[in-house]
Amino acid sequence: MKVLDLRCAQDHRFEGWFSSEDDAQSQIASDLVQCPVCGDHAVSRLPSAPRLNLSGATQVQRGQAKAGQAAQAPAALEALQAAYMKAVRQVMAQTEDVGDRFAEEARRMHYDEAPERGIRGSASPEEVQALAEEGIETIPLVVPDALKQTAH
Ligand SMILES: [Zn+2]
Repeated sequence: MKVLDLRCAQDHRFEGWFSSEDDAQSQIASDLVQCPVCGDHAVSRLPSAPRLNLSGATQVQRGQAKAGQAAQAPAALEALQAAYMKAVRQVMAQTEDVGDRFAEEARRMHYDEAPERGIRGSASPEEVQALAEEGIETIPLVVPDALKQTAH
């Protein structure tokens, strides 16, 4: 998954998600990428912005340019949300999805029955509680629907 910062001719900034660098280039070149704000197809790439920069002006600008949402949400909140999405995306890229077997896998890793690695999955509050009592720490993570659908 390749995430690029894009800009249309009206200077609206937004993110484009592509399967690869080549995919991004060909989609932009064939006018398949559209600005979510004005529908413009004359889209160009911006240099990659630093990730997780909560106070940076770049984040705030991007927040204001988002279609629809910007009118209701303050730019700072938008920026926070964008940063959170990126953090979640990063966690998802670096962890193995074990689904319903989360508690089981966490326990196996804890007792050296499985290789130590980053995992994610679902667990009930009871399971999380039981893991905590065994000294196994877990971090709750809310994954926005948008990421669930596009994640590979
Ligand atoms: Zn635009």
